[in-house]
Amino acid sequence: MKIVNPATEEVVADVEPADAAEVDRAVERARTAYASWREVSPGDRARLLRRFADLVGEHAEELARLELTNAGHPIGNARWEAGTVRDVLHFYAGAPERNHGRQIPVPGGLDVTFQEPLGVVGVIVPWNFPMLIMSWGVAPALAAGNTVIVKPAEWTPLTALRLAELALAAGLPEGVLQVVPGLGEVAGARLVEHPDVAKIVFTGSTEVGKEIAAKAGAQVKRLTLELGGKSANIVFADADLEKAAKTAPYAVFDNSGQDCCARSRLLVQSSVYDAFMDRLAEAVRAVKVGDPLDEATEMGPLISAEHLERVRGFVHDPYLQGACPQGRGYWFPPTVLTPEPTDRAFTEEIFGPVVSVVPFADEEEAVRIANDTPYGLSGSIWTRDVGRALRVARAVESGALSVNSHSSVRYWTPFGGFKQSGLGRELGPDALTAFTETKNVFISSE
Ligand code: NAD
Repeated sequence: MKIVNPATEEVVADVEPADAAEVDRAVERARTAYASWREVSPGDRARLLRRFADLVGEHAEELARLELTNAGHPIGNARWEAGTVRDVLHFYAGAPERNHGRQIPVPGGLDVTFQEPLGVVGVIVPWNFPMLIMSWGVAPALAAGNTVIVKPAEWTPLTALRLAELALAAGLPEGVLQVVPGLGEVAGARLVEHPDVAKIVFTGSTEVGKEIAAKAGAQVKRLTLELGGKSANIVFADADLEKAAKTAPYAVFDNSGQDCCARSRLLVQSSVYDAFMDRLAEAVRAVKVGDPLDEATEMGPLISAEHLERVRGFVHDPYLQGACPQGRGYWFPPTVLTPEPTDRAFTEEIFGPVVSVVPFADEEEAVRIANDTPYGLSGSIWTRDVGRALRVARAVESGALSVNSHSSVRYWTPFGGFKQSGLGRELGPDALTAFTETKNVFISSE
């Protein structure tokens, strides 16, 4: 696989894709490693994960630059991502020693539960946040006593491969964490179909997620799905318009809009629509798009030429476009549309730096528009009225909402989608439950 820097179109690496037989060998190694990894004492498992986290911290700059080269992320964002991978590993390193079961009062004896690991877990990762999303699956799965095989996206395997090397250097036994770069329909599909893989964590498109769910269902395989989104950013007339407008670009143009949580539908109360649009235009024009190595850059390129063409296909007659570099690299400017609510730019996930603004009259209409989508991943509500914030947050069918904030993901808290945005939850304590099976044991006192 030719690995390309999307900011320069240069080939930066050549990676041998794993075929189905290679995946089978990885599963065999992971099965062998599982037998001893699950027996490692909780304290030792915690120490190994901490050492892994520390090594990630020591190599954070290198990992950030690798992600920048492979995925086009601006250096500031890439540094934050590397630091967060380290923090996610530290967070779950605390889990092995707190993986408590319960003691349940029953007549005639003692009843206890154990949180047992599942076995070999397959983590299938998309290209938009390669190392970050990998860590969301890997850290809790390892902490719970599973062994893990990661299948990175075909365009972005470099940080995944480096993280696997760091895991070995930290002392994680051979076979506990493996990476199989390869094609989705080959290496990814084999992981899903392999009878010795106990669970699949898939992050990617809803279309592929449905296919994987059907295959996993046939084996009653455990499954977590993190899929697409078309989230709403709802601005009420009583909001801090300045702040809502200033942050709205970051709510959708972060990572060039290649973010499942992108609030790509901006709903603005009609009475403040014009005032808001003036402020939004100013904020969009101020977004700095360009060389990811420049410390001032806020938005980089799109991942590939195909994706650039796809994004372009959604944009007709834009209300406003910011600036972006011309020439080599897959560049697309920050774009604001004012479509009809039935337009496909307003209903389909674009996964690019394109926000569609639609006015609404009142709270009821805002909630109706926000929920008029098969997706339900994230969203924001801007208002100074606490009661309204709570009412709307409860009414919007979405997994992660923020009030007077444009960001969604905090690794201490559960993250995942309603409706066709996913199944199950990652991060927070919920992820541990997702990587264990509850076993109930009754011991008779008679
Ligand atoms: P994608 O579905 O094309 O691919 C995701 C991963 O699945 C890749 O590793 C790919 O190789 C693999 N894959 C593809 N076909 C497969 C198959 N048949 N069997 C097994 N594996 C297969 O998605 P993408 O284009 O890489 O990522 C973009 C999508 O991911 C967007 O829809 C975005 O919203 C979603 N996403 C969701 C979240 C979330 O947390 N909900 C986070 C990031 C991205």
